[in-house]
Amino acid sequence: MAERISEILQKRLSDWLGFYEDLGIRLFYSDRGAAAVRPSEQRSEPPAMARFSTPNIQKEETLPKPAGKSALRVTTPIVTPVSPKIPSLPVAAGPSLFESVDRIVDDTLLKVREDLGECTRCKLHSTRHKIVFGDGNPKAELVFVGEGPGADEDAQGLPFVGRAGKLLTQMIEAMGLQRKDVYICNVVKCRPPENRQPEEEEVSTCSPFLFRQIDVIAPKVIVCLGAVAAKTLLQTNRGISQFRGEWLEFRGRKLLATYHPAYLLRNPPAKSEVWKDLQKVMAVLGLEVKKGKSS
Ligand code: URA
Repeated sequence: MAERISEILQKRLSDWLGFYEDLGIRLFYSDRGAAAVRPSEQRSEPPAMARFSTPNIQKEETLPKPAGKSALRVTTPIVTPVSPKIPSLPVAAGPSLFESVDRIVDDTLLKVREDLGECTRCKLHSTRHKIVFGDGNPKAELVFVGEGPGADEDAQGLPFVGRAGKLLTQMIEAMGLQRKDVYICNVVKCRPPENRQPEEEEVSTCSPFLFRQIDVIAPKVIVCLGAVAAKTLLQTNRGISQFRGEWLEFRGRKLLATYHPAYLLRNPPAKSEVWKDLQKVMAVLGLEVKKGKSS
């Protein structure tokens, strides 16, 4: 007789299915009898990857699962990594921000953090609780850049740990990665009061530290989350919707801008667009692209 799954597990499954449905993945291959997978039968988390290894590409794969959740199986077409053509965006007039920041020989994240110190360079310092420098793998192939810390981040000193952060974590896991595989940071390291957008002066004061972080980590791909990150790294005033999902370039590195997770919380239908963008990133990184057949 089929084993009944607990209400808690049903709720978790339904939340998780809802998340994938939002991404546009609607049809799951279900293995009869595998609906409830005992913890001892669950696949372990994807291995930690200091540098992502080339995945074993299979036609049928288990979807990444958050801790304590049941594994789901989905049929997946094989997608060959593509070599993207990277157009350049028109650069804003005037001296580039990058020109004022020379690449520092033998720089390290520790040195960047030390140079930042207990920063008082802009007015954001007077209202912050904690500097949110960045978090994750210092050798990550993938760096996510957000806008600036919110209340939760300001309290904990870690990026993307609030509601938007939980969504970002789900997306990272949907890519088959864990947060510790990637590096996450922001344009400004201190919380703007009332979560307002950082002002131009705050961005220009703080962004040299972001540029140094990126130079040191030397990722294969940078994903800008939202317009502030995209505009800062691309030095453009164009709206993000004009270049979202396109391969661009930051100091010779592949850059792709997508919507900010906070925007997705307000506009869940846009999740499927972001998932398409992240699939492009996965292809470049040699990660298996998981695609359900949309119904
Ligand atoms: N939004 C951001 O842009 N960054 C964070 O760290 C959290 C929320």
